[in-house]
Amino acid sequence: MSHFWPFEGVWRLNYRDDSTEVATIPMPKLARNKKKAKASAPICAVATKILQMAVREDCSAEEIGQVVIGDPALGLRVLALVNSSAFSLRNRVSDVKQAVALLGVRGLRNLALSLVVSDMAPVGAEGRVLLANSLRRALAAQGIARALGVRQTDSYFTAGLFLDVGLLSSARDDLAYVAEIARGPAAHRVVRERAAGNVAHPTAGAELAQKYNLPEETVQAIACHHDEEIPTEPLAKACWLAERFAGVFEGGDMLGAKNAALAAALDVGISSEDADEIFESIPEWVRTSAEAFDRDIGEQPDLEALVEDANKSLVSMNQHYETLVRQLQTLIDEKAVLETELRAANSRLAAEATTDELTGLPNKRALQQTMTRDLARASRQEQPLSLVVIDVDHFKKFNDTWGHSTGDVVLRNVGALLLDFVRAGDVPARYGGEEFVVVLPNTDEEGSEIAAERLRVRLEAMVVEGPEGPLAVTASFGVATVRGPGCEHEAKNLFDRADAALYVAKENGRNQVSMAA
Ligand code: GH3
Ligand code: MG
Ligand code: MG
Repeated sequence: MSHFWPFEGVWRLNYRDDSTEVATIPMPKLARNKKKAKASAPICAVATKILQMAVREDCSAEEIGQVVIGDPALGLRVLALVNSSAFSLRNRVSDVKQAVALLGVRGLRNLALSLVVSDMAPVGAEGRVLLANSLRRALAAQGIARALGVRQTDSYFTAGLFLDVGLLSSARDDLAYVAEIARGPAAHRVVRERAAGNVAHPTAGAELAQKYNLPEETVQAIACHHDEEIPTEPLAKACWLAERFAGVFEGGDMLGAKNAALAAALDVGISSEDADEIFESIPEWVRTSAEAFDRDIGEQPDLEALVEDANKSLVSMNQHYETLVRQLQTLIDEKAVLETELRAANSRLAAEATTDELTGLPNKRALQQTMTRDLARASRQEQPLSLVVIDVDHFKKFNDTWGHSTGDVVLRNVGALLLDFVRAGDVPARYGGEEFVVVLPNTDEEGSEIAAERLRVRLEAMVVEGPEGPLAVTASFGVATVRGPGCEHEAKNLFDRADAALYVAKENGRNQVSMAA
């Protein structure tokens, strides 16, 4: 025999809509808040006590009856529930003793479970939605069971009531999230729970039902009520269909949901007439059942009103859809423009990163890339490659005499001359300050010396307009050459040798070409 204890830890449950009082149910050993629970004797605590008794094999209905009779508030609720559609008794019962006898241990247990679930729904608007959803499933499951010819339907009611317990149980921790899920279309709930990174309520609910020691068939019914496939067990099957029936009343594409539910009903073995009757009845069943639970669950629109709403919302939904499509198109157009701009900006950036702003020549970074590429080619093709390093003579004097902007004009003119001078394949670059280089692929010592000398002469002949007449610009040149396999590793050596040659050219009086040793 298992000891029934439905709650792990201490649960705080609001047990009446109009009350802010909170029932605290202690764990058996710890017995925390025992005093308070006893003093207020909230319904839920009594319901729990009944549950504990009801799972004892030797417990009789009379024994439980004593507890119910000893608590007038509970007695009233028991009577209300017994006479409600949930317990489908033929005749009205007005006496608690008679109610207890009629219900039996199993019925009392279901009744206690119902009280527990109803008391789990918090007060306020959110709680009303949660409780209405649970009742809707309970009553749909019961209606479906009846349509399938089941005689004892109270366990269907209880199982239906527990379908959303996985959601209800989170209400006290995160009511806003739970309410958001409960208010959204039923068909999307599991997806949204998963999207939020939470355990989906069928799984959470089944775990909880197991803790409550509910029958295995109820645990299974809760676990698979959102499954794609129809479950095979009768209780699970009815609950699965109840979920779809209830969903018709809970937002989203109502007409689509109803058609899907009707098709599902046929698969389960319920005629369209029976299904329609259940649809028609659900709102009224929920209303009266909420009264029996002494809970306010707000307006319960009937099917006709929902269909009308659905048709209306279809029109506005279409308009909304049109707007969305238009917005989407705008976004797509904007995206295309942005992509073009981005591409242009990217190539601008790439160019900026490798271009010297003042002269428009490739900068030092670009030069390094060029050198790597051209040296590798020279190595592969066993060709020579020469480097000419150029340094403007006494450049400082342009700055010092005429100002920095005149210095800049000189540099720009040197840059333009280099660009104009070189052959295809040759790469001029501004190395920094007033130092320039020209990379000459496939050019040996002889060829590079000729090229450098020609450049020197052109530069010397260049006319640069200064503030007070033409400026005499000359430069010194250092030239070095590498060749053959392995030369791709000689970039630094090449620079050093060309630089050393330049130093010699300066030493020897400037405005001349010096070849590296
Ligand atoms: P040398 O003949 O020995 O090369 O003498 P130099 O004056 O040309 O050489 P130095 O290295 O002494 O001076 C170079 C000057 O170039 C110093 C620096 O202020 C100037 N400079 C560097 N970059 C720029 C620039 O972008 N614009 C201008 N206007 N001046 C620059
Ligand atoms: Mg210098
Ligand atoms: Mg200089």
